[in-house]
Formats: sequence, C-alpha cells, structure tokens
Amino acid sequence: MVTVIVGSKTSGQKCCVVTQTEAADEPRVVHFDLPNELAPLLRGQPNWANYEKGSCTALQIAVIASSVPLGGGLSSSASLEVAVYTFLQQLCPGRMINDNFHFGVEYPFNKIKCNLSRSLEATAVPLADPGLVILITNSNVRHSLTGSEYPTRRKQCEEAAAILGKKSLREATLQDLEAAKDRLDGVTYHRARHVIEKNERTAQAAEALKRGDYKEFGRLMVESHNSLRDNYEVSCPELDELVAAALEVDGVFGSRMTGGGFGGCTVTLLQAHATERAVKHIQKKYHGSPTTPSEGAHALSL
Ligand code: ADP
Repeated sequence: MVTVIVGSKTSGQKCCVVTQTEAADEPRVVHFDLPNELAPLLRGQPNWANYEKGSCTALQIAVIASSVPLGGGLSSSASLEVAVYTFLQQLCPGRMINDNFHFGVEYPFNKIKCNLSRSLEATAVPLADPGLVILITNSNVRHSLTGSEYPTRRKQCEEAAAILGKKSLREATLQDLEAAKDRLDGVTYHRARHVIEKNERTAQAAEALKRGDYKEFGRLMVESHNSLRDNYEVSCPELDELVAAALEVDGVFGSRMTGGGFGGCTVTLLQAHATERAVKHIQKKYHGSPTTPSEGAHALSL
C-alpha cells in the first residue's frame, strides 16, 4: 500500500494537483494560486485538495496515485500529507516544510507512537523486527451508521465522565467505574468500560512491544477488537469475520478492526513467514483485499 506523487516546479503563480484516486471527490484536477498577503489560501471544494493546499510552498504541478483506501480507517489523508511533504522537500531541498514531516521519515512502520500520559506527549515504541508483518485487510464495506454513531459515542462518554465526577474518562479507573455502576445505565457503563480499559490496554501493549512479547501484544489486539465489538459496539459482521479468519492462521499473533468502525479495515500482526498462508486463508474465507503497509516516506528515482 503506497501513495506516490510525481511532479515538478512550474513558473507563474499557479499550482495544479491531480489525484488519480476515483474515490476522491470531484473534480480530480485542481488549479489554485499560491497564497500571498492579499489573497490567503482558503479551504474549498473539492475536499481532498485542501490537504495539498495546506502544505503548498512551491509552484508545482503534481499527480497523486495511491493504493491506500480512502475512508477505510487507515488515515489515507496522513499518507497523502506525508507524501506531499516528502515531495515538496525534494522540490525545495534544505527548506523545512513542517515539523510533522518528521513523522513520516522517522516513524514509518518501525515505531508506533503511543500517547501513554495524560498530556498530549507521544512516546515512540519500537516495532522493527524483520520477522514481523502487519497485514491490512479491507472489508470493502462501509455501513452508513458511521456519521450518526460517532457523536452518540462521544456524548455517552462525556455523560459517563460527568457521572464519575471526572473531566474526562482518561482520568477514571476501573474501580471508579465499578463504584459508580449503579448510577450508570447499561449502555453508558459499557461505553465507559471500553474507553477506560483501552487506556490501560494501550500502556500494557506498549510494554509488551518493548519486551518483544508479540504474543501478549496480539492477545491485547484481540481483546481490543472484542471490546470494540461488545462494549463500544462499533464493529460489524464483516470486520468480525475478517478478524476470526486471521486468527485461524498459524503464526498470527493478533488481529483487530482499525479506524472509526462499521466497515473499513482490520490490522493483523503475524510472523513474516506466515503472510502468504494468512492472505490465502483470509481470501478463501472473505472476499476482501489483504495488503501490507510499505516502508516510510522517501524519494523515488525515476
Ligand atoms: P481514512 O482514515 O478513513 O482514510 P482520513 O480522515 O484519513 O480517512 O481522510 C480521508 C480523506 O483524505 C479523503 O476523503 C480525501 O479527501 C483525502 N485523501 C486521502 N488520500 C487521497 C488521495 N490519494 N487522493 C485524494 N484525496 C485523498
């Protein structure tokens, strides 16, 4: 899975970006002027072009081709932005485009950034074992619930935090939750339980990775999926089916849904030598499209 940008500097004030991704909103060819003091850049339509406009520092023509599915919960926009920054750095060497640029370069798929503290500080956790593969499987479905369910979950979590007397569920423990169980309705209790356990699970998963304990990490992935399915109720039969199929394969450590839910993708951690076997098995059990992430952002020579 990869996002590639080809292009060059042009003269004049115009930029032109083209996406070849059919799932992007129309039009897929966009012309815009470089911003200046009198005419700053504004968000506009099509939506996808805003990601490029935001980072545009050079006159350019660029064509984007990507095999990252849009709306599949894999942060295709992040892939696009990292590709745009990498492209612009090649176009304007020596110029610091943006601090976020380091993300794609330093933390491709060999480190996972975890937010383990209550601050917004992130810690890089290593995941560089060449004997491991992360397999991404696209369910190729998207249930229309996504839009309405997201604000509902948020509201339920805010309600639970208020009943527990906390600013956010980040500050609550399982003991707090159990002590307040009688004051919460069943659904709100399960939503809160998912969030609180998820915070604890993330810290445990980071520790497991640091120790190279992939079995434990995989177990936590499955636990996370089950909680997303049963407590948070954002999975769907297709995602559950993909996870179940992956877990049947020897050499698979764990599997779970990723992204906003109700469709999109699953991620599976497995031994590299089991990849072919896992892909075949999943394809036999499900008509999805398994694929693997590629290495971090870099320039390609033509
Ligand atoms: P997801 O994680 O579900 O893919 P994101 O929030 O990361 O969702 O963003 C998806 C949006 O990013 C798309 O709706 C589109 O506007 C933009 N996008 C991502 N990749 C491309 C691409 N290759 N070409 C054009 N737009 C893209």
